[in-house]
Amino acid sequence: MPTVLEATDPRVAELIAGEEQRQHDTLCLIPSENHVSPAVLAATGSVLTNKYSEGYPTRRYYQGNAIIDGVEELAAERARDLFGVEHANVQPLSGAPANLAVYAAFLEPGDTVLGMALDAGGHLTHGWGVSVTGRWFRAVRYGVRRDTGVVDLDEVRQLALRERPKLIWCGGTAIPRTIDFAGFAAIAGEVGAVLAADVAHIAGLIAGEAHPSPAPHVDVIATTTHKTLRGPRGAMLMSSARHAKAIDRAVFPGLQGGPHDHTTAAIAVALHEAAQPAFTDYAHAIVANAVALGEALIERGYDLVSGGTDNHLLLVDLTAQNVGGRVAAEALERAGLVCNYNAVPFDPRPPLDPSGIRLGTPALTTRGLTTDHMADVARWIDEGIRAKDNAALERVRREVEELAHAFPPPR
Ligand SMILES: *Cc1c(COP(=O)(O)O)cnc(C)c1O
Repeated sequence: MPTVLEATDPRVAELIAGEEQRQHDTLCLIPSENHVSPAVLAATGSVLTNKYSEGYPTRRYYQGNAIIDGVEELAAERARDLFGVEHANVQPLSGAPANLAVYAAFLEPGDTVLGMALDAGGHLTHGWGVSVTGRWFRAVRYGVRRDTGVVDLDEVRQLALRERPKLIWCGGTAIPRTIDFAGFAAIAGEVGAVLAADVAHIAGLIAGEAHPSPAPHVDVIATTTHKTLRGPRGAMLMSSARHAKAIDRAVFPGLQGGPHDHTTAAIAVALHEAAQPAFTDYAHAIVANAVALGEALIERGYDLVSGGTDNHLLLVDLTAQNVGGRVAAEALERAGLVCNYNAVPFDPRPPLDPSGIRLGTPALTTRGLTTDHMADVARWIDEGIRAKDNAALERVRREVEELAHAFPPPR
């Protein structure tokens, strides 16, 4: 029996089946990706996608929202409980719009924002020039120290004292080390800035207590829900009750129309899963796997930015291997190892062909891989990067596929 999708639209059905096969046959080393549970998938693919519900629970601009109100209230309550915050807005459509809502809540155009530079590990939306956040606001950027590869809070403090930002961002997309939320909070307090922690990458680690929580220290927590948190594509903004109104108004009607209620339901499911004891084990296993993978790569002569990792992510500098990050990432894909090329701090190479690759263990860990597998993964990465021809890559791919098939993604 063909599925309804196969019967209605065989071309899309075939494309989706192909993508499912690709995910099944390869190992995903992209630190911002994961494999969601069948329950999260089921909620995402539900009839909630049919509903319009502009507004907030009990204050909607459309009738017929009693049940949707229940879904959104449940998701928000679970977010508050899991992250220990007074307020959660679960409507942001994704991470970038959630971050825009933070600007809309606290800044006027032209105000100063201090964020981590993209090429040091920050996110576009923290004031990088090609993003509207870098064009509509006066953006000042901090980086990492050349000798340590780690953020220098003394430098951040000096910048903050000189530039007097109204908003400071901590967190980013390529930070392999623990973020010192208390240290940032001291600086924000000194200059009277709003402090926002963008924990998109590490939300699942925070939920599973494998990374300290920003909740006691920051004004706003922004996060995606689809990375280590292992939910659907979406985002949340969390804060104390004091900032609740400003944030809610910024999200709707400030920036968005109707929320994606099917996504909200799937976020609720993911938060429920993340509140289980097994998720704490998962979060710690992600970090253990990343540490093991890092050690195995160092043993093979690879250079890791900051010398290792405290979290789910490794930034590998391939300068010593004399290979560009892009060439390496393309070779690794042919070997069944999917990652992304990435700039390293102070990268002399251009952004489209930088010196590094970024690796992460959230998706591998979801499949059930343990520290025992990481020596093999490191060996395949090494063999893939050093491969001289397609035959060598094909040999690696066969080994990768064997392990991938032994540990399929949940479905
Ligand atoms: C992924 C990410 C975002 C953006 O999320 P999207 O859902 O892709 O818009 C924002 N900030 C950080 C730190 C991220 O890692």
